[in-house]
Amino acid sequence: MTHAATEHYRKIFDRRTREQLHVLAHIKRFMERLVGDMSFRAALSASGDNPRMVTERYGIEVDPMEMLPLWRNSYMKYRFKPECASWPLAVMWDEYMSEMLRHRDMLRSEGEMPMVNPRFHAWRERQIRRCNGELGGSAPSVTHPVIAFELSDGCTIGCWFCGLSAGGFKGYYEYCEEHAEIWRGVIGVASEMFGSAARTGFCYWATDPMDNPDYDRFLFDFHQITGALPQTTTAAPLRDEALTRRVLELFKRYGGVTNRFSVLTTNHLDQIHSAFSPEDLMGVELILQGKEALTAKAFAGRTRARKEKLRAADNNSSIELLERDHTTIACVSGFLVNMRQGRLQLVTPVPGSERWPLGYRIVAERFFGTPNEFREGLQCIIEEHMHESPPPNLPIRFREDLQYEAGDRHFHLRSRNVEHRVDDDAGAISVGDLIRRGDCTASELAVRVIADGVTALAVADLLDQLYAAGVIDEDLDDSFAEQPSERVTGRM
Ligand code: SF4
Repeated sequence: MTHAATEHYRKIFDRRTREQLHVLAHIKRFMERLVGDMSFRAALSASGDNPRMVTERYGIEVDPMEMLPLWRNSYMKYRFKPECASWPLAVMWDEYMSEMLRHRDMLRSEGEMPMVNPRFHAWRERQIRRCNGELGGSAPSVTHPVIAFELSDGCTIGCWFCGLSAGGFKGYYEYCEEHAEIWRGVIGVASEMFGSAARTGFCYWATDPMDNPDYDRFLFDFHQITGALPQTTTAAPLRDEALTRRVLELFKRYGGVTNRFSVLTTNHLDQIHSAFSPEDLMGVELILQGKEALTAKAFAGRTRARKEKLRAADNNSSIELLERDHTTIACVSGFLVNMRQGRLQLVTPVPGSERWPLGYRIVAERFFGTPNEFREGLQCIIEEHMHESPPPNLPIRFREDLQYEAGDRHFHLRSRNVEHRVDDDAGAISVGDLIRRGDCTASELAVRVIADGVTALAVADLLDQLYAAGVIDEDLDDSFAEQPSERVTGRM
């Protein structure tokens, strides 16, 4: 059975002729050079009316004069405007990119499971709403997959910008008979419990897929069970070129989501461009992480630690301020599974902070050795941590990043990019003010307000609405936090 997101993705390529794909692949290569390579940018600006000379040197077979709005400052104002028609290659690129963005939004919907697992569905929807208000510039690109698997422990690459501060490599999860059985069992359980939302799963986190020489065998099983081939992101596409090519071959046959190579330096870009043709890389987004690249890094993990050091040295810059809006690289609102450790965690993205330096909050953790234990772990976590209403015995208060403003029988809540106006007219005591004070539990709050003559139902309804909107603070547990929250009082 094909699914909407996969179908949309495959159509992006199938509806184009071979010639159009060839042109698109070369525009893509041009854009990669533009963003990732300072000498290319310099040569291009110095090239006057003959930029073709520069692109030819790099084996790029399109004429930059046909896509001026993509790269020459004085023409950028025509982008996405009718006048852009004078530069057909710019139009072609922008159409392709908007189709890819539409696909990204469809991926977010693929994680929905209102029928098969309503509790998990409601929890994830709430995290998405919270993230839309809390994550700044990172929010639109987060697709909230419901599950991610680590097939190694730690990472051999050690990128300076690692948003997840991956630990040193300790080994990988081999594809032996026993492990293959556990793996297939675990994917089967995820599929059975999350339905088609399991298709959003992928097989790396604070790990690099290429650290596992059996990686493609795990991918193939995942595809056989869920019908979806997970996305691959690697910073080591050249480490074992045969493995990378096997992954790209699987992608060609079954792929429904673009893979990504992290490019660490301009030299690395040169090597990748010489190993793989523009067409080979059509299904691979290059994330240009080198020092010459114009790519912002999220304020989490090792990037965050580095930026804090720079800030201490009074080295602020406007670029840095821009990057502060890019708050996390974490994307999963769901389960993070390390197969080697048999560890299962419930996680969700948050802005990188002292409390959550890696840009995600760990809500709960369990360990498993068999698919049945995996199922039990999932069930327990869902039961204990995915509440549908604010838990009655926990403090109730607004998220820390929200500004509260009381009005006349209503109140406003403002975050960095969302504003809520909430009617608060059920009784004489303001529910908003009580939550704002944050000194009582949900059940104590209900007692206080109901005593004032309001119906229990109206209060419960308002609390449920606020809870579903993701404005009630759920970060109440210090068990997995780096720094305990000072605001947590009276926890039971
Ligand atoms: S960014 Fe990826 S490849 Fe680099 S250290 Fe972190 S997990 Fe490893």
